[in-house]
Amino acid sequence: MADLARLSMNTVTLRERWTLAQCIEGCARHGIPFIDPWRDKVAELGLNNAIRRFRDAGIRPSGVCRAGLFTTGDPIAIRDENRRAIDETAALGADCIVTVPGGLPAGSKDINAARALAADALAELVPYARAAGVTLALEPLHPMTAGDRSIWSTIDQVLDLCDDLGEGTGIALDVYHIWWDPNLAAGIARAAGRIAGYHVCDWKIPTIDTVFDRGMMGDGVIDIPAITAMVDAAGYTGPIAVEIFSAHDWWKRDPEDVLRVAKERFTAGV
Ligand code: ZN
Repeated sequence: MADLARLSMNTVTLRERWTLAQCIEGCARHGIPFIDPWRDKVAELGLNNAIRRFRDAGIRPSGVCRAGLFTTGDPIAIRDENRRAIDETAALGADCIVTVPGGLPAGSKDINAARALAADALAELVPYARAAGVTLALEPLHPMTAGDRSIWSTIDQVLDLCDDLGEGTGIALDVYHIWWDPNLAAGIARAAGRIAGYHVCDWKIPTIDTVFDRGMMGDGVIDIPAITAMVDAAGYTGPIAVEIFSAHDWWKRDPEDVLRVAKERFTAGV
């Protein structure tokens, strides 16, 4: 079972009730050592203020969310925004920035063209990330998001990109997005040495909203300890982020309760 020394709280889990400053204070109170911050929360607080508060609280920012979205707008504006995201990640002293590719460009039905577009934009970004000492943690998302958010659907797709691009790239494994994959065990084994992040939550039955109805670990059908064992066997020893988009349940609860339950479930069911 997972050690609390590896717990990271993704700010999205608390986003409706707490600012980043409140997340930092709350996690410090609960002895949670890492936070995965979203960039909008960092911007709200101010980058320098965020850096100072993380340092003062003794909390490490781990995976910043997020970069990418290569397929959905003006390429120059996207490139510049992604460079800013990398600069912020480096300034925060975080290990990586979670990177998702985007879905199909508006009006397009050509998923292969979207994949090529994302691969080219990513390849252009990698030297910038490398120079900044930041890893782009490429996150495959569930295929239900291929239309609007991610044309990377499987671990193997992302590892093929990592094979091509090398240093500066890694993979973020999120149980919500990968648990269904028939090639899960082999994919995670193949990811050895390149796992940059590991995200947990659960898949509820029924799921009433495919984006905003994630479950707390233990409330769904994902065998999370089995996946954690695979990730451990692949040599990953970094933070494990609790990332729960939950408009109908957890976002409505008192964040103190969310943290308390998340810690219990983390030690019992991750
Ligand atoms: Zn994730």
